[in-house]
Amino acid sequence: MHADLLLHGAVLPTVPEADALAIRCGRIIRVGRFPELKDLIGPGTRVLDLADKAILPGFIDAHVHFVRVGLERTFFVDLSDVGSLEEALERLREAARDRQGEWVVARGWDESRWPERRPLERVDLDRVVPRQPCCAIRVDGHLVVCNTLALARCSHPEGERVDRDLGHLREKAAWDLLDAIRLDQRALVEAVAAASRHAAELGVTAVAEMSGKPEYLRAYLHALDEGRLRTRVFLYLPLERLGEVAGLGLRRGFGGELLRIVGIKAFMDGSIGAHTAALSAPYRDRDTEGSLLISAEELARAWRKASRAELQVAVHAIGDRAIGEVIRAARIAGISRYDRHRIEHLELPAEEHLAEMADLGLVASMQPNFVVNWSGSGKLYEERLGPERDSRIDPHRLVLDKGIPLAFGSDGMPMGPLYGIRGAVSPPHPMQRISIEEALDAYTRGAAFSLFAEGELGELSPGKRADLVVLSGDPRVAPLEGIRVEMTLLSGEVVFRR
Ligand SMILES: [Zn+2]
Repeated sequence: MHADLLLHGAVLPTVPEADALAIRCGRIIRVGRFPELKDLIGPGTRVLDLADKAILPGFIDAHVHFVRVGLERTFFVDLSDVGSLEEALERLREAARDRQGEWVVARGWDESRWPERRPLERVDLDRVVPRQPCCAIRVDGHLVVCNTLALARCSHPEGERVDRDLGHLREKAAWDLLDAIRLDQRALVEAVAAASRHAAELGVTAVAEMSGKPEYLRAYLHALDEGRLRTRVFLYLPLERLGEVAGLGLRRGFGGELLRIVGIKAFMDGSIGAHTAALSAPYRDRDTEGSLLISAEELARAWRKASRAELQVAVHAIGDRAIGEVIRAARIAGISRYDRHRIEHLELPAEEHLAEMADLGLVASMQPNFVVNWSGSGKLYEERLGPERDSRIDPHRLVLDKGIPLAFGSDGMPMGPLYGIRGAVSPPHPMQRISIEEALDAYTRGAAFSLFAEGELGELSPGKRADLVVLSGDPRVAPLEGIRVEMTLLSGEVVFRR
């Protein structure tokens, strides 16, 4: 039996004794020293000398809003790289000119990176986009600022989640407004294709899509039919759809090789940036402790129902109070550790929370890029929480030390494992620091485990799917900043090549 493709001359950081890998029919058939693999070379075998580049399992982004990543690259105005509030407004003004009469939707703004140090407000947007509805989603997705015309579409009453004066909508009020902006199906299919291309450039071969709305599902299926989905997508459907999903008998694993359902996504709280993450003590810069979006009892009921339907539950919980409530809900529901339920973000757990998570078999789904973006002296988390709580945020080290399974993702802020991993290997605080081997593991094998896919993905071993990334250097020794993705393979097919 000959190989279709044989890669050699490389470093395999996760299999240090090997320098070559053979692929046949989309799967890895052997990993080892090149001389031992030479018998696999036949007349049809492509042999590729990788000259000291590094081969890793394809990265798996365990938490991302993948359609949104695509929309950012196609439909949304991207504000993630603007250097000031004024520059953000200038970009919105230009976009409005190009889309006369249409919605202008922007995303990715982060006032903590601007000299003005204040969020966008309604009057700012009115000034640059006066004649068409315009809204801009904060980088964390938990705060949307609207101009007056966009705000008119919001039906929520003034209160904690709606500030009409500032034009700020938070949590459900924000999501309902965004839902009301109907994107046509074609735009969504283009977004899926764009997201998939982008993932391949970043060495990402599989993602967990955390917002599996029905219209997104259709877009994924169309992109799949058209051969433009070149990323494995694991779907989480919103909690509001649990009744329908369970009613149809769809359990985790339903779907195919590239698109499959894993479970249900629920929210316990909001975000630190939007002051909506639920804390046990007030924020440093505002007189609030955030709030819970669902009660532990309500979550426990949903949890039982999902477990009966064999669906995994992934609960967003950032503040210590929210994390405590998720654990309480898990106890009430009597979850099984074999169902691998996940806590998303897990930013500010207390130590006793981690012991309980280990006991309950809960998986930590964390985003090390948050550390790069917002933790450390003078950055957003310190501003919102003070230095003591900032030093305890995103404790990857403690999570691993407690024996909790760790899965890394990006939440799309931005996507890119090599960027994110820096937040775990060279962070500002000791509790955040893990080794490069541990970080790579969380972005490959650990992420696969969290998606019930460790049998086929996440490792370089015979029988696994040939989803690979080839890097320009070995991340164990070369500085991460200088490493580039050279090539990405999905089932042995090249989906990206520099
Ligand atoms: Zn998310």
